[in-house]
Amino acid sequence: MGQDLVGYRIDSEDRILFVSHNWLKFANRNGAPNLNGDIVIGRSLWDFVAGKETRYLSSLLFATARANQRTVSFSFRCDSPTCRRYARLSVAPLPYNGLEVSSETIREDIRPYIALLDPRVSRSGEFLTICSWCKRILLAGGEWAEVEVAVSRLDLFGMSLLPQLSHGVCGECMGKIDAECDIDSSS
Ligand SMILES: [Zn+2]
Repeated sequence: MGQDLVGYRIDSEDRILFVSHNWLKFANRNGAPNLNGDIVIGRSLWDFVAGKETRYLSSLLFATARANQRTVSFSFRCDSPTCRRYARLSVAPLPYNGLEVSSETIREDIRPYIALLDPRVSRSGEFLTICSWCKRILLAGGEWAEVEVAVSRLDLFGMSLLPQLSHGVCGECMGKIDAECDIDSSS
């Protein structure tokens, strides 16, 4: 499974230069069915990154890779409704301040279908926050829980309209990214 690399390259202004066939296939499977190479090439990457914290942390990884001219990497989850997918994101410097972003699937666990993660399911006006990186859900009281736990805790089974998901970043992922980027979060 280690060769399952999906990726894209951006220039010094974060414009998309290249997307791999695998990456587009992955985006299409995961709720962005209208993406194709003709649409994304030349566009700013940031047109396709949702959530303020996710954008911030991605830009932090990019800045570190560029400033230190080294590959930075970060473990994350890119789950689908029926699969827990453990993956690793790597951001590698390219000449002229470009970057190559790739992700590698480390492990996949099949699980029973989770409607909350299915982009085709109808949604209410309510919102739940999901961590973009570890895919845990924020519960009342500030606890981040695995999606199965959240669904049961929030009693979402059989609900006719599920809440929408808004993207955030949990404290644990924030701290790990700060550490990878050599940022002292206590200062
Ligand atoms: Zn997280």
